[in-house]
Amino acid sequence: MAEEGRDIDRDVLTSHRIDLHIHTVVSPCAEIEMIPPLIVERAVELGLDWIAITDHNTAEMVEAVQRAAATTGLKVLPGMEVQSREEVHILCLFDSLAQALQWQAIVYDSLPAEKNRSEVFGAQYVVNHTGDYLRENDRLLLTSTTMSTETIVSRVREMGGLPLAAHVDRPTFSLLANLGFVPEGLALAGLEISRWQTVEGFRKEHPHLAQWPLIGSSDAHQLSDMRPRTQAKMAGRKIGELELALRGELGRGLVVED
Ligand SMILES: [Zn+2]
Ligand SMILES: [Zn+2]
Repeated sequence: MAEEGRDIDRDVLTSHRIDLHIHTVVSPCAEIEMIPPLIVERAVELGLDWIAITDHNTAEMVEAVQRAAATTGLKVLPGMEVQSREEVHILCLFDSLAQALQWQAIVYDSLPAEKNRSEVFGAQYVVNHTGDYLRENDRLLLTSTTMSTETIVSRVREMGGLPLAAHVDRPTFSLLANLGFVPEGLALAGLEISRWQTVEGFRKEHPHLAQWPLIGSSDAHQLSDMRPRTQAKMAGRKIGELELALRGELGRGLVVED
C-alpha cells in the first residue's frame, strides 16, 4: 500500500458529506433527542458519511455513537469542543477513541472541581448506543478549562489530533470575538464558520484571514440543526486527509455550501 497521502496517482479520491461538530445529550445545552440512534439515523437521512461528536469538555459519548453507527456506512470521528481559559471554543478531533479519551483525562484535570448544577445549566446524560440512560456526568462541563487557547492547540497537535477554531463568526466563545485575532503561529488546521455565516460573507468581513482554510459545520444541539453542508474530496476519512482537504493539497479539497 502507498504511504498515506504520498502517492497521489494511486490514491482514490472520493467525495464525502461531513458535519464535524455535533453535540449529544451529555452536553447540558443539547436537546434530549441527541441520543446515538437518532443522531445516526438523521446523519444517514441527510446523506452524511462522516460526523464528529464534539461535546463540551468531554468525549464520554463518542463510543456509544460509534457503536450506534457500526452497521451503517457512517463514520464517527472522536472529538471534543474544549473551552480555553479565554472562553474560546476549540474543536479537537482525533482518529482514535483512545486518543480522545487520553485527551479527555487532560481536560478533566484542567476543569474546576465543581459539580454541574443541572437546574442551571441542564442535565448531562450519559446513555448507551441504543439511547438507554446509564448515568449523569456530574462534572461541571459548561465552563472554561485552565488551559490557554495556545496550550490546547499545541497539545492536541502533539497527540496527533486536529484543532479547529469553532464558530469563529459568533459573538461569544469564539477566537475572533474573545481574542480578536488569530495569534501568530497558532497551529490550527482551519477556522469553522457557523450555520449563520457563508464563506463569501466571512471572506468579505475578514480579508486579513484569507490564508486560513474554512470549514462549515452545524454545531448541532438538536437533530434539525445537522447539515450536510461541507463536502470533502479525500482518500479516506482520516484527519490527515481532512487537513490535506482543508489546505487543498494533493488533489484533496473542501467545499462549504451556504
Ligand atoms: Zn461552541
Ligand atoms: Zn458546539
